[in-house]
This record gives sequence, C-alpha cells and structure tokens, in this order.
Amino acid sequence: MPTHNHLVPPHGGELVDLSVGEERAAELKAQSRRFPSWDLTARQVCDLELLLSGGFSPLRGFMTKADYESVCYSLRLTTGILWPMPITLDVSERFAKSLKSKTSKIALRDGEGVMLAVLNVEDVWQPDRKVEAAEVFGTTSPIHPGVDYLLNRGNRWYLGGSIEALRLPSFYDFKSLRSTPAELRAEFARLGWRRVVAFQTRNPMHRAHVELTFRAAKQVEASLLIHPAVGITRPRDVDYFTRVRCYQLILAKFPAGTAKLSLLSLAMRMGGPREAIWHALIRKNHGCSHLIVGRDHAGPGKDANGRPFYEPYEAQDLFRKYEAEIGVRMVAFNTMVYVEDKDKYLPEDEVPAEARVLNISGTELRQRLNSTIANVLLIKFLEMGGRPVTLLDGDLVRQHLSSELGFSKEHRDINIRRIGYVASEITKNRGIAICAPIAPYDVTRKEVRSMIEPLGGFVMVYLSTPVEICERRDRKGLYAKARAGILKEFTGISDPYEQPQDAEIVINTAGLSPEEAAQAIILYMEREGFIGVNNNL
Ligand code: ADP
Repeated sequence: MPTHNHLVPPHGGELVDLSVGEERAAELKAQSRRFPSWDLTARQVCDLELLLSGGFSPLRGFMTKADYESVCYSLRLTTGILWPMPITLDVSERFAKSLKSKTSKIALRDGEGVMLAVLNVEDVWQPDRKVEAAEVFGTTSPIHPGVDYLLNRGNRWYLGGSIEALRLPSFYDFKSLRSTPAELRAEFARLGWRRVVAFQTRNPMHRAHVELTFRAAKQVEASLLIHPAVGITRPRDVDYFTRVRCYQLILAKFPAGTAKLSLLSLAMRMGGPREAIWHALIRKNHGCSHLIVGRDHAGPGKDANGRPFYEPYEAQDLFRKYEAEIGVRMVAFNTMVYVEDKDKYLPEDEVPAEARVLNISGTELRQRLNSTIANVLLIKFLEMGGRPVTLLDGDLVRQHLSSELGFSKEHRDINIRRIGYVASEITKNRGIAICAPIAPYDVTRKEVRSMIEPLGGFVMVYLSTPVEICERRDRKGLYAKARAGILKEFTGISDPYEQPQDAEIVINTAGLSPEEAAQAIILYMEREGFIGVNNNL
C-alpha cells in the first residue's frame, strides 16, 4: 500500500490493510458455515471498521490479553509501540464458553447479518473491568460514559486475535464524505497537502471552534481536515446529520482549497488524556501531521460531586509527554472565550485585561440547542402534532424583535409586551406559543395574560429555582459576573424578581431534569383539555 512519502508515516511505519484477496475471501465464505457467528454491537462495528481500514495501525486485530494488559498499565503494545486505548471484542459469557477451542475462527457480522470479517481467536478471557476502568479512565464512576459502557453495557468476556477482512461496513448516508486512511492520504497527495492539521469534534462547530481551526491552520501553516467523530459519541450529543450540515456550511467559509471535511466512524470513549493520544494516532494514520487539542479534549463531563473527571489541560499535558513518540504535533489551545467588545473569540490568555468575556462550551451550546425546558416542550408538542407551535425564546426574541433594548425595568417591560403581542397573534390563529423570557414583574405578566387568555388560553409556568442553584449552575458564567458587578441589573442578584402568585404550574427545577419538567407541563395541558384526544382543534 503506497503511503505517500511526503506525508507523516502511519503509526508503526506501515498502513495496515486487513482485507484478503478474492480467493481467500471465497474460501472463508465457504468455510464460514461452520464458524460460530458474533453479531457485532454498534460500537464494535466502529472499532472493526478502523481496524480493517488501517485507522488503528499497527493493530491487526482485537487485542490479545497480553497486549490489552500492557496497554492498560503502560500505554504500550507488547512490541513497545505507544497505544493508549484497549481495543477489545467483548462477548457474552455464553458465547465465550461455547467456543470449542481457543483457536477457533469466528464470523463477525454486522446488524444485518453480513459477514464483515473473520477473527482468528487467540485468547479468550474474563478481564477485570474495574481495574481497566481505573487504569484507562482514572475512575470507576459509572457517570463517566466510558466506564458506564465498560461496567454496565459491554459484555464480560473478551476475545483477542488477528482479523481477516472481507468487506468494510456499509453506509447509506454521506458516502462521499467517508474516506479510509489510504483514500485520504491519496487525496492529500493529489492536492499537494503535506502538513495537515486535524480537528476532532463531536459537537456542532460554533464560533469558538471556527476560530480554533482558523488559528491552528495559520499558526502551523497547514491545511485543515475537519474530522468529526460520527460513530458513537457522548450520550445526548447532537445527531451527526445535523452536525454534518453545520460542518458543510462552515467549510464554505474557509479559503478555497485549504480545508476538507471527512467523517470518522469513531466510537469515542470520552477518555480525556488517553483519548487525545489515541485521536492523534488515528489522525496520523489518516495522513495528518498535527492535531488540535483544546480545553478538556474528549472530556466526559463532571463526576457525582460536580467536579470534572479531568483537568482542562490534562489531555494536553499527557500529549506533550508522548509527543515525540506520537509523531503528530499538538496544536494546543487555551480556552477560547467570547470577547464582547471585539465581537470575537480569543484564547483566554490573549484577552485584554478588563475586557468583558462570555464563555460558551460545546456542551452548553448543545444544552441551549437541545435541552432547556422550553426546547424540550417544543419537541414534545411537535412530536404530538395537531397544533402549530412556536418557541419565543428569550435570547432569540432579544436578537430579532428587541435588539435595541437593554435591561432596565422599562425595557424589560417593552420586551415582554412584544412577546405577549406575538403570542396573542399565534394563539388567535390556534397555534401554541411557548414563551421563555425572564419576566420579573407581576404587573406586566398580568397585562400579557389579559391580552392572550381570551383568545385561547394562557398557562403561566413558574420555574422556581433558588438563586443559589442558578448561581451554582451558572451555565453562562453570568452570575459570577453579576456578583462581581461586571453585569448590572441582573435578575435575582441586582434586579428584582417578583414571584408569581397566579402561576398555573410551579416547577422547582432543582430536582427535575428538563424532560421531567416538560412532561409535567404536558400533563397539565392534557388535564385542562388544551391538548389530547378530545381537544377542540
Ligand atoms: P470533544 O473534545 O469531545 O471532541 P468538542 O467537539 O467540543 O469535544 O471539541 C473539539 C476540540 O475543540 C477539542 O480539542 C476541544 O478541546 C476543543 N475546544 C472546544 N471548545 C473549546 C473552547 N471553548 N476553547 C478551547 N478549546 C475548545
């Protein structure tokens, strides 16, 4: 397999290709009637694809016990080559025990029963999964998604051995955006790209990411590969169809011929530091010379005590330690923050003193997109169908209807009245308007109620959350700024909030998830006859 000499060499020196020739394939197919079959899980299909395509070079199969243990304890294969992540085939005890000898061949099949590869079993063993979790992820807490898979969702026995490949898993979506390492290498060579900086992501790209990628490409004078993980990412991430549309739009903003998008069937483990090294090795196999590693790379979020599993720059530190062996250079970034006066994202360490900054992480972006109560409610209404539904979100209304307004009492009232007016028109036309502004004043709320109620109905939902909890969550970092006096007229801190006595529904969000809160609202609406089978549409 040509590896295009001017590109970074694959990990271990050679790009692995596990596919067998036609003759051997026919032979294996004929023999396979006698092989036990294992139906691969979604995650195993992702791992297998990267094994087959050479994305996991120098691995030539699922790890044997010796390699697995060596990787867990010392981040190395038994050959001494750096490799930070166990790649194992987990199977049920029944299946493991049904194997007649330790040298059986197994047909590995995808969800549709298609045989993708044959595993030459060399090892069958029951791993100590707690030890694996502690070594690889540094924790045994099942709140960590990688640990949760390992301890609660994966199978308890492992099979290791070399693989003979018949075919890659098939895809029906975004075919033109999926490339094997060999294909990407050939493409880079064709385009004359020598230095390529990869950007790993599992989120929709927003402006912080765009700034990261622009800066990285400029800084190391490299072309850019946007290489999102579209295999399995963290639970509740934005689906990749939406993400791909977002990447495609962003790609068009880069100077022509300097950036490329390719999708990677990677099943992420959210393993932070070890995962960053793993990501680099995979990108190296795909021909990339550099990898962007920002704040909290592949971070699994917070533990049961609200503390992050990994420090924000722990991934960068571990990467640095092994950088020479990895063979891919890290393009490290400090946290990118939004600098309001400049209307720009800058790394935290470049922000001028006194400048007002806002911080939005990918996770928060996702939360904003997905899971505030109003959004959940919107989705639930849409799912039910029946009535047209509109979300008048506080931030969006301020952007489109009330951009000239500030946060004085007078301006807040105008803003709420405008929302009330739009909602009254929607109600009049038999739609549902979900309004999610901060409406701190009782008189104004009553005024809006009187505009809408006669035209259909008005349900006031009071999300009563103690200010201490808002401060503890402080998703946008705004409470801290309000406390410091940087943000003025901040509801709950330096501006009043008149608690409603006339709310139809009171929800204390301290103990409820957004989904549960939305469900409580739906149930109320159903009980009152606004929605449901007998409603008078
Ligand atoms: P993941 O690291 O799990 O893929 P993201 O898609 O959010 O999650 O991040 C992609 C890359 O961008 C990572 O290297 C991450 O560290 C970096 N990154 C994301 N947001 C920021 C930010 N605001 N500041 C610095 N780096 C960031």
